[in-house]
Amino acid sequence: MKKISSIRIKPRFAAILKIFGFLIVLFLAIFIFYRYQISTLTKLEYSEEASNKILFSGYKRKVLDIGKSKTLNAAFESEYFKEKYLNNYAKIKYIEQDHLIENINKLLKVGYSNHEINIILSHGTSESVSEFAKRDKVRYLEEYFSYDFAKLENYDRYIQYSDETGEDELETILYINLNLDKPDYEYTELVKDFSIDMLINKHRNLGEDFVPEDLTTIPSEYAAENDFECSRLALNAFIEMNNAATKDGYSLIINSAYRSYQDQVDLVELYRRSYGDSYVEKYVALPGFSEHQTGLAFDIGSRRSNIFANSKEYIWMKDNAYKYGFVMRYDERYQDLTEFRKEPWHYRYVGKDIAKYIYEHNNMSLEEYFVIFLDK
Ligand SMILES: [Zn+2]
Repeated sequence: MKKISSIRIKPRFAAILKIFGFLIVLFLAIFIFYRYQISTLTKLEYSEEASNKILFSGYKRKVLDIGKSKTLNAAFESEYFKEKYLNNYAKIKYIEQDHLIENINKLLKVGYSNHEINIILSHGTSESVSEFAKRDKVRYLEEYFSYDFAKLENYDRYIQYSDETGEDELETILYINLNLDKPDYEYTELVKDFSIDMLINKHRNLGEDFVPEDLTTIPSEYAAENDFECSRLALNAFIEMNNAATKDGYSLIINSAYRSYQDQVDLVELYRRSYGDSYVEKYVALPGFSEHQTGLAFDIGSRRSNIFANSKEYIWMKDNAYKYGFVMRYDERYQDLTEFRKEPWHYRYVGKDIAKYIYEHNNMSLEEYFVIFLDK
């Protein structure tokens, strides 16, 4: 009995083995074919997730024709993918932004072209783009947003200011990005960190507690009084500049340097009592809004002349201060941006790179430099 049954089982077992083997080979072949298909997409930098969707939704041919596209990849990864926008996704530049595909869909629905969407995305944040997509299609996109530093969120203010004043696009963007259309001392941004490129004005202020991190006493030989203080960086630069000035036969002196928040409170009070509100409004920054609190600003005088603007030292500073990292901060040419009248004596340490750039670009204001390069 035993013998017979073992003879019968053997061929049946062999048959099962054969089928099993065949299935394994079949699955393996399918798997290899599937991996090959996926690899044609991953080679074009589509993710595994996107590649799977592309493969199983039947867009492989089309995607291979299109080639690489980070935006298309993101679209296939997104639950908001819309078939009718596939060609748009492929032509819109990818940008690292939340809700990218959702926002692109909305903008396409409003009627913007791919080119216009590229402009909108590159000037906004996820939130500002999403807000922008809620409105009807707007005009003047190209005019304003050919400037890198134009901000999508400011669009309405650009149009309004330009309509009211007739200013050109560049002037308008500068003015609005600096929040100059908003009330002074009220619509402000608190600046917390010390840096040589920090911007303090009537819309960007320092807190009561802000003290420059490298505050140091100015040796009395450089200053009009004994207890003046400033940033160590600014002092080193001043000493270097003063040495050069002395060598050329000029004689500089620091008439005012770091002023604490409380110093400015006292100063404003003093001027208010002596000269009245309108004087303070015109000439004195309110506490927190004075550049002197940064420790990077100096009021510079000539030891030989009481009126600095009439001194030879003033002329020397105009030609040389930038070499040591200083800029004259307030000039009548751009007082609409600084909101201070000309102060020929007020110099600000910004470092040699920025000072050189400003000098080589028609002595632009620090405000302008900030909008173009620093306000990201
Ligand atoms: Zn000053």
